[in-house]
Amino acid sequence: MTSPRLAQLTDAWQRVSSTSAAEEADPLVLDCAGRLAADPGGDQAHVWVSGLVMMSEYLSWRPGPTAERAALEALYAAVGALGSRSCSHSDHPYQAEMDALEDEVWNAGTGLPALGLAGQDRIPDSDKERLLCPGNVAGWARLAADVISPFTVRRIPVGAPRYHQSCISTLSGIVNDYPYVDPQQALIDESVLTAARPTRGTLAGFLVTMNATCWYATSERITDRAVLDAMIKGIEAAVPLLGDAPCTHAPGEHPDTSDPDYTNQVGYLLRSPGGRAEISEYYGWDEEDEDEDEEGEEEPLDAWVCPAFLHDLAEETLGTLRGGLASFTAEGGEQDADTGPCS
Ligand SMILES: [Zn+2]
Ligand SMILES: [Zn+2]
Repeated sequence: MTSPRLAQLTDAWQRVSSTSAAEEADPLVLDCAGRLAADPGGDQAHVWVSGLVMMSEYLSWRPGPTAERAALEALYAAVGALGSRSCSHSDHPYQAEMDALEDEVWNAGTGLPALGLAGQDRIPDSDKERLLCPGNVAGWARLAADVISPFTVRRIPVGAPRYHQSCISTLSGIVNDYPYVDPQQALIDESVLTAARPTRGTLAGFLVTMNATCWYATSERITDRAVLDAMIKGIEAAVPLLGDAPCTHAPGEHPDTSDPDYTNQVGYLLRSPGGRAEISEYYGWDEEDEDEDEEGEEEPLDAWVCPAFLHDLAEETLGTLRGGLASFTAEGGEQDADTGPCS
């Protein structure tokens, strides 16, 4: 590929976002995925993997189904062709970027397409070698595939972004009833889904967190009804983003959310590839079994992002919060009555 042609393509990929129209973005995805699928272990694979990474914000929202399938199949093929090659590196550059995946959207890119462009001489050879290592390219392919379709690839390094870890810790204090911050403010802060077009993991994580914290929000520890109002408003705004893809799970396969402490952890772990890898590790997904088809013996982890499960979970959470609001109003009335004689 010539440098001007690559520069043109890179520019086009960069402009693809979750707001792109399918008729503009899908042809770019299909072209890129087709080239990767044609030679997933080839010496240009890093270029096409990068293209799909750059378009993953679009691909994780509402891509055309054909484009989504083509992108995922090409990424899985690249993982298969490149992921098992051995190298001498203890880690790869993509791992350093994982902490920045707080909303799962890459603004910084992979650093890979630039290697084919004019000016690449500025990059030291040792860096180039690590960037182009099959282990690094496969790593990016795994991350992109996992953002587009959570829990479909293995061997992603474990570790949620630091910011998510601190959110888990703050909320863990609250759901375990020993808050070390103002719980009312913390719950109001949590009740807003920041992305207008969230990834599947981010959206699922938000709704799971709301469920984990709703018992506390409706307990007598919360004295400001603004907390419940904010949570209800946040959930009502998020639910329409779930879409209506049908459930593919058997009865009883949807996750158990009865333990708020565990559910709270999952709520944030769902929001990044490294966090989801932690969930996978917890459930004992075995790296060695990557090529073996042992479906049915394992927990279907993708049930955590199943729209049908999340619709039900959100309904349950809203029911609890609305119930809390009703008794809150009743109690508020009683409190008003009580304050009279006391004051
Ligand atoms: Zn390597
Ligand atoms: Zn389901």
